Amino acid sequence: MAAKKSNAGICTYCNATVAKRSNSIEKHLSECPEQLALASKSPPRKCFLLMIQSENPAYWMLVKVTAETKLKELDSFLRAMWLECCGHLSEFSYDEPFTDTTIEMTKNLKSVFAQTNEFWYVYDFGSSTNILIRLFGQGELRKGENPITILMRNVAPETLCQHCHKPAGGICSKCQWESDTPFVCEWCEETHPCVEEEEDDSLVSGITNSPRMGECAYDDYCFIKSEVKGYFPKEIV
Ligand SMILES: [Zn+2]
Ligand SMILES: [Zn+2]
Ligand SMILES: [Zn+2]
Ligand SMILES: [Zn+2]
Repeated sequence: MAAKKSNAGICTYCNATVAKRSNSIEKHLSECPEQLALASKSPPRKCFLLMIQSENPAYWMLVKVTAETKLKELDSFLRAMWLECCGHLSEFSYDEPFTDTTIEMTKNLKSVFAQTNEFWYVYDFGSSTNILIRLFGQGELRKGENPITILMRNVAPETLCQHCHKPAGGICSKCQWESDTPFVCEWCEETHPCVEEEEDDSLVSGITNSPRMGECAYDDYCFIKSEVKGYFPKEIV
């Protein structure tokens, strides 16, 4: 996969771009004008700050979550934001996926973080997408905010067509495994070698800001705005 060097994030409150470094993120959280304005209006409620990171470092989210949030709810969140294609199985675990260290979905974050500072998640036991969830620090939830609220999300990686280098509209699921530039634009899709060879244009699926892009049946229509709107403090970024 084409990994971008910067992996920068975007603040969901003020749309500022923030480098993916703990000190840059912490600095922005302490001086974000939109968050400071909210802080003066309502008393804060302590919560966890989670760094959610896919195996491909290009994709990450910084999220505020209440201690009472159950893993089941985190599972729904991850499916809606990044993963859901055909209702595959998923699992949380203390160690890397498939190590027999499963954590029950009924557990809440408070009890998980009493045991560990980080844990894993896997979606789909076949063509799996693995995610690491790390306790980043303590956050403050405002009145009216969702118990799971996104603070920052990675800027969508650049996806240029492998043939003409213009912005691409799709990713080739075959090239994904063989090339660092698996993307194709609308114009080049028809004559793309894999599509011609297999006579199958379903090889190409839509571009998404998700670590599951190009995997299984994951496509741009799997990201349903009405299902994720509540997780963003303002507009979806
Ligand atoms: Zn901000
Ligand atoms: Zn699937
Ligand atoms: Zn092209
Ligand atoms: Zn291809």
